[in-house]
Amino acid sequence: MSGVRLDGIVKKYGALQVVHGVDLDVSPGEFVVLVGPSGCGKSTTLRMIAGLEEISGGAATIDGRVVNRVAPKDRDVAMVFQNYALYPHLNVADNIAFGLRIRKESKEAIAKSVEEVAGILGLTPYLDRRPADLSGGQRQRVAMGRAIVRRPKVFLFDEPLSNLDAKLRTQMRAEIKRLHNRLGATSIYVTHDQVEAMTLADRIVVMSDGRIEQIGTPMDLFNNPVNTFVAGFIGSPP
Ligand code: ADP
Ligand code: MG
Repeated sequence: MSGVRLDGIVKKYGALQVVHGVDLDVSPGEFVVLVGPSGCGKSTTLRMIAGLEEISGGAATIDGRVVNRVAPKDRDVAMVFQNYALYPHLNVADNIAFGLRIRKESKEAIAKSVEEVAGILGLTPYLDRRPADLSGGQRQRVAMGRAIVRRPKVFLFDEPLSNLDAKLRTQMRAEIKRLHNRLGATSIYVTHDQVEAMTLADRIVVMSDGRIEQIGTPMDLFNNPVNTFVAGFIGSPP
């Protein structure tokens, strides 16, 4: 299993600095949730780990290797997005298989992996359907299928359930945690939903304005928030 470490990671867009030296050590197998108000730098931090944004300063380490200059496909991470990012013209099987296209695997090996992943996610009856003919929850499962088919060691989730209704959100939340455990993965999960953070996280990272305010277990943060910001966001009043 593989951990993720951030050492003083910085993001600048020209003169504008949006992430101000974030330090974070995620242990192999851990489920860490990043929370904070809109615009505080959660997605940017995740995208730097994934390699979708260049790192302006500091270092990101995955499984003991500094990845600042490593291409996204060689980082052994998979990212699940809020808007699913599915290909509308491809059916479910091909959308899931897309995660494997960049690897040179045989048709048979790809079909076998897709079948297996579809089974895990309850998508076997829908393999021939296009995304437009699926429910929101099914689409999100396809997006997760495309991520897990590559068997990455690290999962990055960027508000994956925000577009689902409350009931489905609760159900999918449990599925994500089960998947994380079953695959023995390391997960970093971004949300602005406190309930989601409290129920999913081994540890929660509270961010504000490109900085970490506090890192701790849900109980830590709830019982001992370091300041009124954290208290207001997650804890009981200090
Ligand atoms: P969050 O995910 O916490 O809502 P983001 O990481 O998306 O926040 O954004 C952090 C800050 O960086 C915001 O102020 C946002 O406007 C800014 N930002 C994000 N992407 C860009 C970009 N491509 N160019 C300039 N500023 C950006
Ligand atoms: Mg975001």
